Amino acid sequence: MSQKARQMKRLVIFSGAGISAESGIRTFRGSDGLWENHAIEEVATPQAWQRDPDLVLRFYNERRKQVIDAQPNKAHYACADLQKSFDTNVITQNIDDLHERAGSRQVLHLHGEIRKARSSLRDDLILDIEGSEIKRGELCPQGAQLRPHVVWFGEAVPMMEPAFEISAKADIFVVVGTSLNVYPAAGLLFHTRPDCEVYLIDPDPNISVPDHVTYINEKASTGLPKLASILLERPN
Ligand code: NAD
Repeated sequence: MSQKARQMKRLVIFSGAGISAESGIRTFRGSDGLWENHAIEEVATPQAWQRDPDLVLRFYNERRKQVIDAQPNKAHYACADLQKSFDTNVITQNIDDLHERAGSRQVLHLHGEIRKARSSLRDDLILDIEGSEIKRGELCPQGAQLRPHVVWFGEAVPMMEPAFEISAKADIFVVVGTSLNVYPAAGLLFHTRPDCEVYLIDPDPNISVPDHVTYINEKASTGLPKLASILLERPN
């Protein structure tokens, strides 16, 4: 690690669907708890996969095409800018890759990555998807059907432990565009050190803002660049 990296403060951005809303990817909450007109149980649970794998594959194939066509917005770019002065980690609940495409280098996906496929037999067998679709009959090298590399409701969240470790070391923790409804991910907000500066950017937060949190009532595409320029300009 370079001398500069050793001196840098640790900054964590914890993002949810709201950061990608202005890139044209809909959130859950904006749509009455439905995800693109589907009940969650219909498309995003292990039971749905057992019941109707064609529907589940079709649903995620559509979401994947949407993600491929979308572009990062100013909020994603502001997260990448922060890397200039901070040892920056992004912890995202999003399954899109807009943080990476904006230039963020350390991105942990709590709920998986839609542009990857996974063996339905072995969780650690993860493959890139050629094109935009996983098709019925497309198999992993061990002969099992490929499924989207996403965490469905009711499944374990294996990246939670590293996310807790990263959050506990943060000097600055920025929460953006998440309803903080989905656990265990939402619990990260309460795993910061007592002396950590915590910010919440959301135009319509779903929780009453805890005392240790500075609330910024803005959309991600304006709130994050503003906060980033304050943090980048002050002596750190
Ligand atoms: P959520 O839909 O429950 O909540 C979205 C939050 O974003 C709300 O609090 C809303 O007020 C806020 N918001 C809306 N527009 C915003 C904007 N322009 N700027 C800032 N904030 C804005 O989302 P969640 O908490 O991330 O939980 C949803 C789950 O659904 C996640 O687990 C995620 O995996 C999945 N999901 C992912 C995507 C994606 O990858 N882009 C999209 C939809 C859902």
